[in-house]
Amino acid sequence: MITTHFLQYSITTQAFGSLAAAIGHTPLFHLQHLGQTLAPGVQLYAKAEWFNPGGSIKDRPALNIIITALAQGQLSQGKRLLDSTSGNMGIAYATLGAAMGIPVTLVIPGNANHERMGILRALGAELVISDPLEGSDGAILVARQMASAEPDRYFYANQYDNPANWLAHYQTTGPELVEQTGGKITHLVAGLGTSGTLMGTGRYLRDYNPAVRLVGVQPDAPFHGLEGLKHMPSAYKPGIYDPALPDAIVEVQTEGAYQMARRLAREEGLFVGISAAAAAQAALQVAASLEHGVVVAIFPDAGYKYLSESFWEAGL
Ligand code: PMP
Repeated sequence: MITTHFLQYSITTQAFGSLAAAIGHTPLFHLQHLGQTLAPGVQLYAKAEWFNPGGSIKDRPALNIIITALAQGQLSQGKRLLDSTSGNMGIAYATLGAAMGIPVTLVIPGNANHERMGILRALGAELVISDPLEGSDGAILVARQMASAEPDRYFYANQYDNPANWLAHYQTTGPELVEQTGGKITHLVAGLGTSGTLMGTGRYLRDYNPAVRLVGVQPDAPFHGLEGLKHMPSAYKPGIYDPALPDAIVEVQTEGAYQMARRLAREEGLFVGISAAAAAQAALQVAASLEHGVVVAIFPDAGYKYLSESFWEAGL
């Protein structure tokens, strides 16, 4: 069960049914084969976020954004939840919206893949398709315009600027990692999209132990195939992103992440998404530089939504 404390509110997810109560408490897997070449004092782990009911890490911030908005009266009866998304956050909103009776409108770039659009339609979300050439930044602008044109119709969830996003990770992902590593975690490695995962989990871990190192992962170029991640220097900067928080940023190439996705599937039995593979690659790099340490990479989702991509077929 997740308990959220935001401003003066204290709400338990039990009030929102068993689906919401099933969010979080995801497994932590030891990456035994991938970590074989590491120093004996170094362990590499992955937080398996596809175990959430909506299939990704984004269930955590979606739930916290919704319950915070309900508690503050921003998502009153009859209002639609509106946000821009490249996929997983939309699936999380649509999943929870269906379960909680909240109508959901999503602005999604026209190049979002077939699997993702299909899942969103199956869950009953209303989709507004934005210019594929403008990517996720274009979708943000469309959502903003819609929200300001019809403020009575929409609650604009604004995952990029909403503190309930990173607070979800401060309240859940961070404490889980401390518990699951017996307090021994030394390095957190997480991809940067809205940055909510790294900001929230990272702040909790720093409060727990100021020596914990925080490593962000981003694509090495503005045009890339690392679905869910942002190339921060060239993208719209999320309001919740504090560039001073991470100790290091590791840049990952799309091809390298594809290769790592195949390795994780074939060597560890973990069929994960491309951003998870990017995090694994960065985490392996960090772990290889250590003599002692407990390195945790966040694996945001599974590979199913990326099946139509051809890279799975290649040899290693
Ligand atoms: N990986 C995937 C597949 C995602 O959908 C997201 C969210 N956009 C991320 C990583 C990054 O998470 P965050 O928004 O918390 O930085």
